[in-house]
Amino acid sequence: MKKEKISAKNTQPGRLPNFGVLDVIVGPMFSGKSEELMKRLRRFKIAGLKVMVFNHALDKRYATNKIASHSKQKWQAVSVQKPEEILKKIKKNMDVVIIDEVQFFSKTIIPVINQLITKNIHVVVAGADTDFRGDPFGSVPNLLALADGEVVKLKAVCTVCKKWNATRSQRLLANGQPAPRQDSLIKIGAGDCYQARCRKHHIVIS
Ligand code: ADP
Ligand code: MG
Repeated sequence: MKKEKISAKNTQPGRLPNFGVLDVIVGPMFSGKSEELMKRLRRFKIAGLKVMVFNHALDKRYATNKIASHSKQKWQAVSVQKPEEILKKIKKNMDVVIIDEVQFFSKTIIPVINQLITKNIHVVVAGADTDFRGDPFGSVPNLLALADGEVVKLKAVCTVCKKWNATRSQRLLANGQPAPRQDSLIKIGAGDCYQARCRKHHIVIS
């Protein structure tokens, strides 16, 4: 197995290096993942920590170079397409790195996050754990397994039964009908083409 490079910054003489941790926040659309990130961001700032926020460039629903919630809260972020850009764009001496919409990143997000942790950075990621078909989404299952900090699984209100039990993102076609399984994995949208639904009311046409 390839050994991680440990930077000088992270190694104190006579001491073991300090490592960061990984927190993972998951749930369907509208479950409050971005709001949770912004809540934590404010707390980190109050503590005087240096925080940098990244979002996937695909997410232009509410703003570019910002993370945003469906309730219209916004925070400055750097939009990136490839995970490696996070390593290129990160400023010096950051304490915390926050990454939203982590399900959109390719699988090299895993070694990138591992590098950040090796540099004593606290990494907090948020993303959808299941896609519109109800299947595990991208690298999110791996990130859940690798998390050594907090794992938070949020729920939304099911738009059909109105219970706070929605774990799935229902994709809808323009005519309001459930999207078929063969639809493309990624379709950027919000209330126009997605609803939060529980297992019982989540429908995928096969
Ligand atoms: P996520 O990042 O998980 O998609 P956001 O943090 O962007 O979620 O948005 C959460 C907000 O979405 C809630 O505070 C609420 O205002 C709004 N919302 C819209 N539909 C729902 C729903 N079905 N269940 C819960 N919240 C919803
Ligand atoms: Mg969000």
